[in-house]
Amino acid sequence: MADAANEVVAAGADQLHVDIMDGHFVPNLTWGPPVLKCLRAHTDAFLDCHVMVTNPEDYVDIMADAGADSFTFHIESTKDPLGMIKKIRAADRDMKVGMAINPMTPVDSLFPYADLCDILLVMTVEPGFGGQSFMEEMMPKVRTLRERYPEKNIQVDGGVSPNTVEVAARAGANMVVGGSSVFDADDQAEAIFMMREVLDLYRVS
Ligand code: ZN
Repeated sequence: MADAANEVVAAGADQLHVDIMDGHFVPNLTWGPPVLKCLRAHTDAFLDCHVMVTNPEDYVDIMADAGADSFTFHIESTKDPLGMIKKIRAADRDMKVGMAINPMTPVDSLFPYADLCDILLVMTVEPGFGGQSFMEEMMPKVRTLRERYPEKNIQVDGGVSPNTVEVAARAGANMVVGGSSVFDADDQAEAIFMMREVLDLYRVS
């Protein structure tokens, strides 16, 4: 895992996006804080943690301790999004705050909290598994967020590749998550370079 992580960083990735799944909020299991902590020991890269778990409140301090640089939780996973934001801000480690919405969740559910977040994540697949197709029909959500929050990081996660990145960038995404499109690429540096070129083309600031 450390080798794979360092390989994509060497290939030009800005951050490492770590999908944490609990087999409950999403129907799959990945890894948790102990593995993140091991990874932390092998890289100085920004660890962008996408936490897809039930009761995310219980993991804020553990993730901070494991070395997360951001904590993105799903609005669907908590009854108290504001409390989550406060808890992440109050953690011992400085972590960026991200809030994510699933494809079925309307974009306006983010409005009451968006100003308090650093990253707004629009899922372009149903979370749980890699290798799914990019849902272009989510782009109106991205466009709405970009219009309302010109300064925010708007992230798109799911099925992003050199073929789909332009649609996301044009809608206003400035952060994209490359999964299989990078890790399975024959030339990772080329895949990252191609996506960055497109993002830079549409970047506002
Ligand atoms: Zn993710």
